[in-house]
Amino acid sequence: MTKLNYLDDTYLFESSAILIELRENEKGKVIILDKTIFYPQGGGQPADHGEIISENAIFSVTDVRLNEDGTVWHFGKFKSGEFQKGDEVTLKIDKNRRILNTELHSAGHLLDCVVTKMRIENLKPTKGFHFPDGPYVEYDGTIENPVELIPELEKTINGLIKQDLKIEKNDLSPEEAREQGVWAPLGKPARIVGFAGFPTCGCGGTHVNSASEIGKVIIRKIKSKKGKTKIAYSIEK
Ligand SMILES: [Zn+2]
Repeated sequence: MTKLNYLDDTYLFESSAILIELRENEKGKVIILDKTIFYPQGGGQPADHGEIISENAIFSVTDVRLNEDGTVWHFGKFKSGEFQKGDEVTLKIDKNRRILNTELHSAGHLLDCVVTKMRIENLKPTKGFHFPDGPYVEYDGTIENPVELIPELEKTINGLIKQDLKIEKNDLSPEEAREQGVWAPLGKPARIVGFAGFPTCGCGGTHVNSASEIGKVIIRKIKSKKGKTKIAYSIEK
């Protein structure tokens, strides 16, 4: 299994690792390391991009996935040279991409807080899409006149940002995870995440330390029909 260093520090953009295995499949070359700061795509958050560098080679990482055996697969291609098993390598992730993905993902959590705060009780979060091209959170349940809610949603979410709410994280033991019904893939701890004072949820993404890092949230669109409500948003500085 690959140790997931990004879970300890969202803002660690460079680190080192040992190359465990070099593979190739239909998606191209695969690098497996003993530990990584690269976020594997999942939970509505895109993968990190960046480079893996040894003394003799540079590998450009264009996709990252958590394999079902708990290893992280770094996909991409060599810009120069080749790696050998056992190589000591330096990992560098695209800092701006990580920060944007982290802020968009964290804004999704904050939107859930706002739905709770505004007591829109019939909405239950089901799905988040936190990619830069049109992020949204989808809820089970519908509301009347959804578009009229936009100004209040925006005011409430940006009010929480001004309060600079802290993110709280707690990794559960396997027993606690079972008891609380929190699922996590093999190799990832079952982690409970939430803004202070609001309901928490199981999440393995990368998060800001506190809400002010997000900047400002714009509510772009709300659609509420066929039993589902979709709230689309963006962030700006
Ligand atoms: Zn999260």
